[in-house]
Amino acid sequence: MSWSGWTQEKLLEQAAEAMKRAYVPYSKFRVGAALLDADGRVHYGCNVENAAYSPSNCAERTALFRAIADGHAARSFQVMAVIGDTPQPITPCGVCRQVISELCSPEMPVVMGNLQGDIRVTTVAELLPGAFGPSDVEYGKKD
Ligand SMILES: [Zn+2]
Repeated sequence: MSWSGWTQEKLLEQAAEAMKRAYVPYSKFRVGAALLDADGRVHYGCNVENAAYSPSNCAERTALFRAIADGHAARSFQVMAVIGDTPQPITPCGVCRQVISELCSPEMPVVMGNLQGDIRVTTVAELLPGAFGPSDVEYGKKD
């Protein structure tokens, strides 16, 4: 499969480049993400840690927040690739699954990889079944 000429392998290579930029003085655990926008351009993300720990941000959310800040519309993205040094293809954490489900379309593919070249592809909907979303907030608004 390819998106704007990008294959899952090429996107994982881009994610691996972003992984090198991770700021991880505490965990030493690097993660990289590559988010492809509707125009076929890649937005990079890496994890960024903090001495206070809880302000740390994952690679997936870094890529999404950068793209949103750069003016790209929510749910306009084509695919996200994520890579880490894990025995199996890395999977997004629960917090990132929630953010991905809000900012990406349910059918958007998520390509997960590791440094050994293992790849697993899933979709946003499969990553977070029954996701809490914008329609839940609207429904709950009562005057
Ligand atoms: Zn995460």
